[in-house]
Amino acid sequence: MSLTGYSELADRIRHRGARVVALQFPAGLKRRAAEMAGALRKEGFEVILSGDPCYGACDLALETLDYADVLVHFGHTPIEKEPQRVLYEPFYVDFDPEVLGRALPLLRSQTIGLVTTAQHIHLIGNMREFLAKKGIHALVTGGSRGCAEGQVLGCAFSAARVPGAEEILFVGTGVFHPLGVQLATGLRVVALDPFSGEAGEVDGQRFLRKRMALLEKARSAEQIGLLVSTKPGQNRYRKARDLASRAENAFVILMDEISPDELLNLGFGAYVNFACPRLAYDDQVRFPVPVLTPQEFEILLGIRPFGEYQVDELG
Ligand code: SF4
Repeated sequence: MSLTGYSELADRIRHRGARVVALQFPAGLKRRAAEMAGALRKEGFEVILSGDPCYGACDLALETLDYADVLVHFGHTPIEKEPQRVLYEPFYVDFDPEVLGRALPLLRSQTIGLVTTAQHIHLIGNMREFLAKKGIHALVTGGSRGCAEGQVLGCAFSAARVPGAEEILFVGTGVFHPLGVQLATGLRVVALDPFSGEAGEVDGQRFLRKRMALLEKARSAEQIGLLVSTKPGQNRYRKARDLASRAENAFVILMDEISPDELLNLGFGAYVNFACPRLAYDDQVRFPVPVLTPQEFEILLGIRPFGEYQVDELG
């Protein structure tokens, strides 16, 4: 696992003419915060830290710029042009590309699409080389929301829509990204965890059945809250406002942090999530009532046909 060296980062900060530096880390990297703060202080900077939760590249702690000259956001690649006073420090996680051999027995095509997440995107060339040696032509294409070729985000699956690919190999951890890839492309998807070496075919239909059951449950809600995030990179107010105007029992709710406790306190019978798409998909088990995606709400309102399920994406 690697972060760029301190001195290289210090040079980039100096290049911006900054003296006071704010640091922001996602949950998985927060334990490195003290170490990084100490190292940058030794390099001569005054350092402050953002202690709030951070969910992705869309979730910049811009309020720290009231106190600092520059914000260093760790662990993600930019989703749009890097804002002037923000530096992104990606975090790369290595693995041996030979592990892709574990997925070979499951692949049925000689021409596949290859996708991964930001932590492993630096290995995309090595993965393609390995597959080529095994007679498999792995295609990659560029993504939206600042994604590199072959990179998907939990809110952007464009890089999985690979022209000419007959099936997709997803290399990474967790279940949500490969599910999103399957729903976004409709193709057969094989997911490989490069650390455990486990590979399997993704079952998007089972997931869809669960979503449809939630949608049916949401029909009985007397009032529906449309959750709009005030985080700039997740804000879909206009879309929420448009859908609120089509349903008498739907109301826009602006929130910074969307939590199960807050939804319970608000007391609506169902919600629609206009913030990070992963919230409705990944966190549903934590919520007290159905939390639909905007596209699922469109099905509920009869604007979108039942058979036209579309995965929720921001990019
Ligand atoms: S919207 Fe969600 S998935 Fe997309 S970058 Fe932000 S935190 Fe990540």
